[in-house]
Amino acid sequence: MSARRHPVTFIPGDGIGPEVIAAVQAVLAAAEVRIDWEERHAGARVFKAGVASGVLPETIESIRRTRCALKGPLATPVGFGEKSANVTLRKFFETYGNIRPVRELPGIRTPYSGRGIDFVVVRENVEDLYAGIEYLQTPGFAQALKIVTRRGSEKICRLAFELARAEGRKKVTCATKANILKFTEGLFKRVFEEVAKDYPDIQSEHQIVDNCAHQLVMRPEQFDVLVMTNMNGDILSDLASALIGGLGFAPSANLGDGASIFEAVHGSAPQIAGKDMANPTALLHSSVLMLRHLGEMKAAAAIENALLFTLEEGKILTADMAGGGREPSGTKAFTKEVIKNLGSAPKTYPRREYRRIKMPQVSPAAVAAKETRPMGVDVFVVTAIDPAVLGPSIESVLSGLPVRLTQISNRGIKVYPNTLGIESEPGDCARLRFKVARRGDTLADKDIADLLLRVGAKAPWVHVEKLFKYDGQAAFTKDQGED
Ligand code: NAD
Repeated sequence: MSARRHPVTFIPGDGIGPEVIAAVQAVLAAAEVRIDWEERHAGARVFKAGVASGVLPETIESIRRTRCALKGPLATPVGFGEKSANVTLRKFFETYGNIRPVRELPGIRTPYSGRGIDFVVVRENVEDLYAGIEYLQTPGFAQALKIVTRRGSEKICRLAFELARAEGRKKVTCATKANILKFTEGLFKRVFEEVAKDYPDIQSEHQIVDNCAHQLVMRPEQFDVLVMTNMNGDILSDLASALIGGLGFAPSANLGDGASIFEAVHGSAPQIAGKDMANPTALLHSSVLMLRHLGEMKAAAAIENALLFTLEEGKILTADMAGGGREPSGTKAFTKEVIKNLGSAPKTYPRREYRRIKMPQVSPAAVAAKETRPMGVDVFVVTAIDPAVLGPSIESVLSGLPVRLTQISNRGIKVYPNTLGIESEPGDCARLRFKVARRGDTLADKDIADLLLRVGAKAPWVHVEKLFKYDGQAAFTKDQGED
């Protein structure tokens, strides 16, 4: 084992958390990994102490210093506390890369056993709809902003290719909904294709994410590395863990440039907490990912092999694994068995060589257009007025302004002028699209302010979005039914 000592923050967490963390610490100690553990807290008891984020300042300070944390599950309280403490921790440290290995485990029977499933889901972890920017424009009309940045997409796509290299993998599949979401998912796809050119040794491909979900169930063995935006990755990584035995077996790493956080995917399992029944496999596997991140490759391999050997032998298993009339053992007995098996390796399981992942360096430079042309402005208004009446009413107040009303749309469907006879259910919030009256006209903020005053007198406005062309390309999507 390496002579280096590693400072690591550990958060016991809630429910079964302290039991599975203790199991992992015992195995790492037996494997003689030199870790200086710092115990810190987050989760239920911190919420109860009145800290709205569920994370103590000393926990943040410790992770900032150690740059590495092993975390037990944190219960998200219902009815008190504001946001999930898990999400807070991931966001505080910009752990942008969520890594979820999905590999068939020896001795764990599933409908897919024997198919050789072995891939890794790489999920963007801080952007997308999970930026959590939502509004109720009326009590019955909700809106969320899906944020995808070029830099965030480049970081995660490069990380996916770096992971492929570090694990000797051959292919990276990018799954997006770029056919519908041309700007957000489309940007992610374009960046993936640009990044792929820097990795000619790795094959790259794109799948539409709904087909990818279907492929994951039909032919999961085709995948090697999968990279996705946050929400798609969230859903498909859970689907993927079901292929190899369920969430209880799924490890994860949240990698960032500053700190990284390693945790099991499962929750705090309150029903079995304190009963010596918890299965520490997922957290133990997460600690293997942590050791690889720390460059402790030999210790990682030794612990992973001992764990896989224990599962393959199937002599001592916790209740969730011990099917088929086998007598279940407790968490402590299972942990002892893994420790006893240090030095053994599974007989039937193909070996994989791992190298440390090279974290990508992406320039923080903003992307600027050479030419930015104002095209107009979208104004969202609360209204129950028939668009055929609202349209002329808005047009009647535009005199002297450098804009014209080109259309009104409802949930992205053009309803005025309704030249196509589109049948659409009226919502209580409509989008008025104003374009500059003549090509080359400018649109000053004071014109927009004037426009808002005039529109507001007809229907209250709730949201405004400027329309641009960047280097000749429209930076806004068309409505359904718009020419
Ligand atoms: P859960 O994962 O805690 O439990 C789901 C089922 O799996 C239960 O039957 C449980 O007994 C079983 N299970 C889970 N882990 C197990 C293990 N290691 N060994 C044996 N059995 C195990 O999911 P839940 O019940 O939906 O959530 C409980 C709490 O955990 C909630 O407060 C939730 O917010 C939280 N949670 C936290 C995280 C996290 O910290 N990353 C993730 C998911 C849920």
